Amino acid sequence: MSVNQNNLELGATPIEPDNLVLRNRARKSAGLPGITQAIKHVIRHMHTRSFLKTSFSMNQKGGFDCPGCAWPDPDDDRSRLGEFCENGIKAIAEEVSKYKLDRVFFQQNTVSALRAKSDYELGKLGRLTEPLAYDRIVDKYLPVSWDQAFKLIANELIALQDPNQAIFYTSGRTSNEAAYLYQLFVRCFGTNNLPDCSNMCHESSGKGLSETLGIGKGSVTLQDIYEAEVIIIMGQNPGTNHPRMLTALEQCKTNGGKIISVNPLPEAGLIHFLNPQKPMRMLTGGTAIADLHLPVRINGDVALLKAIIYLLFKLDNSDGQCIDYEFIQKYTVGYDAFAKHIDDIDFAACVEASGVTENLIQEAAALLCNRQKVIVCWAMGLTQHENGVNNIKEIVNLLLLKGAIGKPGAGTCPVRGHSNVQGDRTVGIWEAPPEKFLEKLDEVYNTKMPRQHGFAVVDAIQDMHKNPGRIFVALGGNFLSAAPDTYYTAKALKNCGMTVSISTKLNRTHLIHGQQSIILPCLGRTEIDYQAQGPQFVSVENSMGIVHSSQGILTPCSDNLLSEVSIVSKLANETLVSDSIPWLSFMDNYDLIRDEIEQVIPGFENYNQRVRQPGGFYLPNGARERKFNTSSGKAHFSINELPNNDLVQGQYEMMTIRSHDQFNTTIYGLDDRYRGIHQGRRVVLMNSVDMELAQIKPFDEVNLVNNYNKRERIAERFKAVPYDIPARCIATYFPEANILVPIDKFAKSSKTPCSKRVIITIKKI
Ligand code: SF4
Repeated sequence: MSVNQNNLELGATPIEPDNLVLRNRARKSAGLPGITQAIKHVIRHMHTRSFLKTSFSMNQKGGFDCPGCAWPDPDDDRSRLGEFCENGIKAIAEEVSKYKLDRVFFQQNTVSALRAKSDYELGKLGRLTEPLAYDRIVDKYLPVSWDQAFKLIANELIALQDPNQAIFYTSGRTSNEAAYLYQLFVRCFGTNNLPDCSNMCHESSGKGLSETLGIGKGSVTLQDIYEAEVIIIMGQNPGTNHPRMLTALEQCKTNGGKIISVNPLPEAGLIHFLNPQKPMRMLTGGTAIADLHLPVRINGDVALLKAIIYLLFKLDNSDGQCIDYEFIQKYTVGYDAFAKHIDDIDFAACVEASGVTENLIQEAAALLCNRQKVIVCWAMGLTQHENGVNNIKEIVNLLLLKGAIGKPGAGTCPVRGHSNVQGDRTVGIWEAPPEKFLEKLDEVYNTKMPRQHGFAVVDAIQDMHKNPGRIFVALGGNFLSAAPDTYYTAKALKNCGMTVSISTKLNRTHLIHGQQSIILPCLGRTEIDYQAQGPQFVSVENSMGIVHSSQGILTPCSDNLLSEVSIVSKLANETLVSDSIPWLSFMDNYDLIRDEIEQVIPGFENYNQRVRQPGGFYLPNGARERKFNTSSGKAHFSINELPNNDLVQGQYEMMTIRSHDQFNTTIYGLDDRYRGIHQGRRVVLMNSVDMELAQIKPFDEVNLVNNYNKRERIAERFKAVPYDIPARCIATYFPEANILVPIDKFAKSSKTPCSKRVIITIKKI
C-alpha cells in the first residue's frame, strides 16, 4: 500500500498499488462466472466442512438468515440447490473465516501500522476472538476481560453529566432481539440518541412513504413481483446489491411482465440473467431482464417521472385507459391539484432535465399506459439526494395514478441493503420515536422514557465533532467507512472520550477511535448461540415485512465471544444499577425478549409461536390493504418541484457506488467483474466525451475536489476510466470517495447524506 501517514491518521483509506486492468463489461450476470467466484472465496477463506454445513442451512426455513441484503426468501418451497447468491456466499466466507485475530496479532501490530492496510486487507485478517481495549502508551489493542470491559464502559457512561452526551449507533445486521434490548437500555439510560444505518440509506423512503401512504415500508410481497405487469427499477443495481431479486424478476418475465430500468449506468444484472438455480435455463442462454433502459442523468428522476406522468395524462385523454379514476376517487386526496400541476409543467424542460430522450420516455409511457399492475422498486440512487424524499413521493404519485397500491402485482418496493435494517427500526431503533411507542414503553416498564428526540447520523457526527468527550457505542457496522465526509467523521470519532464497537471483524472504525477504545467481539449469524437455557435463535424482518427466525449452526470461532443480546444485557445490567428490568434473564432465554416486544409493538401478537412457523409471519401493512394511516386516512398525491441540477463550467455530479466485490463497507475483492474493472478500486468512471473535453486519458490520475460550504475536500489519485454514463455524471466507489460527501448536505426532512449527487471538479495530477 502507498502510505501517506498524515492522511491515514485523518481516516483515509490507503492508496492501492497500481495494478488496474480494464476488460470488457459483462452483458450477462451470475451464471458460471458467479459460481466460480463464489467457490474461489469459499476455498480461500472457509473450511470445506463449514461451507457444506452453511450452504444447506442458509436462507432455508429454520436455518440462518444471510447477513447480506434484506431480499426475502420465497414463502413456499426453497431451492435445494441453495437459496443464496454469489454475494451471499462471499458474506458467509467473510464471517466463517478460517483465520483468527488472536492476542499475538495485536501484540505484533500497532494501530498506526494497521491503518496502512486497506479495507480489503483488514477484512481478510479474520475474526476477532476476545475483548480488546486500546492502550495509548503502546498504541495497541490489548486483551481485557469481559467484566473489565463492561465496567470500563459503564463507569464512563455513569460519569456523564447528561445521558445525551452518549450516542448509540446500530447497524442493520442486528437482530430484533438485540435491537429491542439495546433501545430499551438506551432509553432507560436517558436518551433517544439512537442513530442507525437507516439514516444513511432508506430514511428518505420511510419519510416519503409515511407522508403519502401512512407506512414507511414497502407494500409488495414476492408474489406481487411475480405477478406484476410492469416493474420499474430505479436507482438500484440488483445484480450486485440484491442478487436473488433477479430470480424474482425472471419469474415476472416468464409470466409476461415487462421491466424498465432507470439508472445512469447500464448494469449487467438488469441486462441479462443466467440463473444458477436453473441450470437448463442457464445453459440455454438465460433471461433478458430489462425491456427498456432509461439512462437517466444523476438526480434526473423527478423530471423523468413527471415527463412519464405527463404523457400518461395525454394518452389517457380522460377516458380511464391509463389512469385509475375509481381508485383515485375512493382512496386518495390531492388529485386535482396534482393534475393541474402536471398540466402546467414544461414537458420539454422535464425531458431535458431527465437526461433521457423523448423517444425513450414515450416508450416507457406506452408500456405503462394499459397496464394496471405496476411496481416501482428503488434503492439509494433515489434516496441519497437533497430531494430524496420528493423522489419517493413522485414514485407514489405515479402508482396512485395507476391505482397500483394495495392490489396483487402492484405497489411500492424500497429494497433494503442490510439484512435487518427494517426490523431494527420496527423494534424501536429510532432517534425520533413516535409518542405512541414511548407511551407504551412507559406503561410496560412503569417509567418515563425521554421525550427529546435524539441525533440522526449526521447530527451525531456534528455533535461529536463539536463537543469533545462524547461516548460513541456502535452495535455492529463500520461507522467511519459508512459515514459521509470521512475526515470530518474521523475527527468526530477521535474527539470522543470513548468509542466502543461490537463487532465480528476488525475494520477502519476501530483504528480511528476515541481517547479510550474498546472492541467487544460478538457471535456471527452462522454460529450457535449457546445460553444458559440452551441454544437460542434470533429473528429478523426482510424488505417485505416478513419476520422469521435465524439460527446459527456452526461452533463459534472462539470460546470468548458473546452474543449481541448478551453484550447488551450485561452492559445494561452494569450501567443501570438501580433498574428493575431483569436484564440478565433476557440473555438466558430470548423468548423472554420476544414476549416484551409483543407487549410493546403492534403486529407481534403470539410472536414466540408465529416466529417458529416455517418461514415466519407477515407484519401488518396498511398500504397493502388500502388502509392509509395518514392525516386524512387516504393516500396523498403530492406536488414536488423539480430540483435544480445546474452545473457551472468544469463541474461534474458524482455518485458513489459499490463494486460487485463489495457489500456495504465490506470489500470482498478488488474486481468489479460486471463493469470490467479489475484489480483496482480507486477509479472514476467518466463519459468519454467529457474526458476528451477535459483532456483526460484513460488511466490518467486525477484528484477529485468538492468545495461545498467553503470547505475543500480532496479525494486523491483516482484513475480515469471511460464508461457508458451520461455527460457530466461520474461514478466512484465508496468508501474511498466518501471523503467528498459533505456532512452538511443531506436530504430535506430525512437527513440522508447526499452521496448520490456530490458536485465536484477534477484536477489532473
Ligand atoms: S440476495 Fe441478499 S440475502 Fe440473498 S443470498 Fe444474496 S446477499 Fe444474501
